[in-house]
Amino acid sequence: MVIVVCGPGGVGKGTVVARLVAEDPRLWLSRSWTTRAQRPGEPDDAYTYVDRATFERHVAADGFLEHAEFLGNLYGTPWPDPDGERDVVLEIDVQGAQQVLARVPADQVLFILLEPPSPEVQAERLRGRGDPPEQAEKRIEVAQAELAAGRALGAVRIVNDDLDRTVERVQRLIAERRAGGG
Ligand code: ADP
Ligand code: 5GP
Repeated sequence: MVIVVCGPGGVGKGTVVARLVAEDPRLWLSRSWTTRAQRPGEPDDAYTYVDRATFERHVAADGFLEHAEFLGNLYGTPWPDPDGERDVVLEIDVQGAQQVLARVPADQVLFILLEPPSPEVQAERLRGRGDPPEQAEKRIEVAQAELAAGRALGAVRIVNDDLDRTVERVQRLIAERRAGGG
């Protein structure tokens, strides 16, 4: 199974995914490539940081399951290589989700859209994380379009208000899928 977690910047994707992976050894988190600069305080292993030429060579060599440009930077998922029988977790944008849905059979994809309780809460979380104001503004500007696109693609929508509750809801969806339902 491929679990795709989408949602606007600051909604809590990274936080939720980190909890999921820490609590379930049967999940395998994909590490994306990006041309974006590392944020202050961002762990070295959050992404594989590359320059644009390196990224483009990898695209030309068909090295990505999906890739997209988001706010001027390139992001891509290398072809997943989970060890063992683990389910793959992708934390990607909605353009990437669309490509995954086109490439992976629907019954093998669990597509989750995390939604902020409100744009104000999203802005607060971006500020709290220390995003520079102009970057935070851009992420807030594109948020409504991202949410609309995710909903149109049929994602399961979860409002990330209480973190524990969000994690539990996602875990329940994963369990249902593994059991052959949902
Ligand atoms: P994203 O990966 O979607 O850009 P992050 O996971 O970096 O978002 O979260 C942005 C900020 O919001 C972080 O400081 C994180 O600790 C905080 N956060 C995430 N989920 C919640 C939540 N449910 N309630 C309150 N704060 C949250
Ligand atoms: P950020 O710069 O905030 O880390 O990420 C910006 C956006 O790019 C987020 O929506 C994030 O989920 C998305 N993203 C991260 N990695 C990938 C990837 O490999 N592919 C795609 N399509 N989007 C990604």
